[in-house]
Amino acid sequence: MRQVPPTPRRGRLQERDRAVPQRTCVGCRVRTAKSELLRLVVVEGVIVPDPAGRLPGRGAHLHPDPACLALAERRRAFPRAFRLAGPLDAAAVQDRLAVIAARQQDGRNGMYPAPAGLVRDV
Ligand SMILES: [Zn+2]
Repeated sequence: MRQVPPTPRRGRLQERDRAVPQRTCVGCRVRTAKSELLRLVVVEGVIVPDPAGRLPGRGAHLHPDPACLALAERRRAFPRAFRLAGPLDAAAVQDRLAVIAARQQDGRNGMYPAPAGLVRDV
């Protein structure tokens, strides 16, 4: 009996095929690599971030940037993206972006992240 191994090259091919999946940010409408966008889904009228991409349902993608969130809200892009009548509560997303922004601000003093040892010497 000949056993055909499950095409060993397939993984590599697939990887190339979906090398950079792109999504459009619902805020600024710029197409961006999916990995740089935050996936959002609606759970009972509340927009929740789904960074792992595991929640079921229709998703929308947004740059993790408060400006994009503001844009999306102003344009009422969320009800359109989720195909829901709304209003949708985006407070959870706002919280999430605030956390991300705070984290990014740590590195904003210099162009490069300072090595841990250097920081301690100061
Ligand atoms: Zn954006």
